[in-house]
Amino acid sequence: MSFLKIENLISGYKNGFKLGDISFSIKKSSFCGIIGPNGSGKSTLLKTIAGILNPDSGKIILNDEDINLMEPRIRSQKVAYVGQFIENKELRVFDYVIMGRLPYFKSFQVFETKEDIEIASYYLNLLGIYEYKNRFIYELSGGQQQLVAICAALVQTPEILLLDEPTAHLDLKYQIEILDLLYTFHEDCKLTIITVFHDLNLASEYCDYLILLKDGKIVEKGEPEQVIDYKILEKVYQIVILVQKNPISKKPFVVPVSKKKLKN
Ligand code: ADP
Ligand code: MG
Repeated sequence: MSFLKIENLISGYKNGFKLGDISFSIKKSSFCGIIGPNGSGKSTLLKTIAGILNPDSGKIILNDEDINLMEPRIRSQKVAYVGQFIENKELRVFDYVIMGRLPYFKSFQVFETKEDIEIASYYLNLLGIYEYKNRFIYELSGGQQQLVAICAALVQTPEILLLDEPTAHLDLKYQIEILDLLYTFHEDCKLTIITVFHDLNLASEYCDYLILLKDGKIVEKGEPEQVIDYKILEKVYQIVILVQKNPISKKPFVVPVSKKKLKN
């Protein structure tokens, strides 16, 4: 049985871009990547699954329940979203992270409970950022800020974690650190992860399922071996591409070829 099922989803912006008829399903504890050129609708799809955008039509079914019919508080207990930027950087790390517990606050509850503090402290420790808990977010490096954003989402204890280009603007070491960390949650905690990737090679390396978008439509979906195919990618990206196999992970990786070199 599929854990998350997207059926004929149409979503987007008034009189503007629309995702067209998106359908796919993923298994529990999948590490799924959404890839595609700039403007293909990756963030729009993720925001629709997160409930930030309401779909025009179609269904998002999580464990047999339509998540658009769920109370927002219940939905936030199941689906957590990490956007491309932290908006409240003037908050202290702990105050930002504890907000991940808001979906669990009872009516009229103003302050976090002892349990909320314990959960936040647990994830701050696990992500190695407990020592920064009293610092302002803007004082931290880009990589540390991304860990804070992921920490707030984990504190929500979701069933699905959605991330929009979590490694954009980070150096290679931090990219791998963040993705390895996510991979650990996927493997050890069976957390289902859906991530937008800019980098096809990182997507191929970490994901067990990929969705390739172009102009708001799915061009291909499946295991990396099926999607990271030079014929498919050349059509989508309009460049010449070689696909080879990573000798260690055995996953496909992409080598773009310069037009200048092709002429020689
Ligand atoms: P991607 O994440 O793949 O780069 P997006 O989902 O962000 O693509 O955007 C898809 C299209 O929707 C783009 O053409 C973009 O300009 C447009 N778009 C994005 N956000 C908005 C918005 N808030 N209002 C109107 N159009 C938008
Ligand atoms: Mg985007």
